[in-house]
Amino acid sequence: MHDEIRRLAREKNAIILAHNYQRYEVQLAADLVGDSLGLSAKAAETDARMIVFAGVHFMAESAKILSPGKKVVMPRSDAGCPLADTITVEKLRALQAEHPGAPTVCYINSAAAIKAEVDVCCTSANMDKVVASLPERKVLFVPDGNMGRYLQKLLPEKEIITWKGVCPTHHRLRAEQVLEVKRQHPAAKFIAHPECRLEVIELADAVRSTTGFLRYAKESEATEFIVGTETGLIPRLEAENPGKRFYPASEAMVCPNMKMTNLEDVLAVLENEDNEILVPDDIRVRAVGSLERMLKIT
Ligand code: SF4
Repeated sequence: MHDEIRRLAREKNAIILAHNYQRYEVQLAADLVGDSLGLSAKAAETDARMIVFAGVHFMAESAKILSPGKKVVMPRSDAGCPLADTITVEKLRALQAEHPGAPTVCYINSAAAIKAEVDVCCTSANMDKVVASLPERKVLFVPDGNMGRYLQKLLPEKEIITWKGVCPTHHRLRAEQVLEVKRQHPAAKFIAHPECRLEVIELADAVRSTTGFLRYAKESEATEFIVGTETGLIPRLEAENPGKRFYPASEAMVCPNMKMTNLEDVLAVLENEDNEILVPDDIRVRAVGSLERMLKIT
């Protein structure tokens, strides 16, 4: 099936992107594997006619925002993100009305319509830099409440108003589970994702984005790691670090939305070119502005 997918991708001048949390067999069929913004930015640089995005909906929207002239399709159009879905434009506007004058920062895991309404976007790798760069003391941060609480800890001089969203996959991990895995592997370094609960983050040797996990594991002299993020990252960590061992902080850290896409879906979307992602131009232009402001800061 990999051969057939690669043949069709060549024939249709398509580039296949897979997020780090996708099934490993889907990652192996992709041209690029990475985090959502990195993938979208790299795809924009290629001369591919079509982008096949194996991930969740807001990620494919990011690809469309950055590559308006390319056709963007998803193997599974029903793969959404429960974190991104916690906030709507109406709810965001109501929050902004409660705090006039406070700028809004949104985590990249948001719909294009939300990105269009905020002052600036951020990623899990640059959120503190972005928020610290704002002159205002009070800052609205959406949609991830855990990330907002971590930011408040990193930047005590700021007043971070958080939204109530969480990523169910990361929020599921509890401090007791981490302590138990640490007890089983006392030499292992624990890496947490900022979408985890603050009580979990406080147990971490390092707090990193998915790309940061890969870099930390490669550069660290440690040989064992406890992985506090979606388990889909583990096969890649293992492949890139032969001789090092990776233990999930919890086997339950599996995002069902990320696991919806299988190889049959990738093949089908290449054949049919359906499930196209479209972003209205007025939203796209404003959302690009929020992304560009982030890039300028970082
Ligand atoms: Fe959304 Fe969390 Fe799944 Fe990522 S892992 S797609 S943030 S629910």
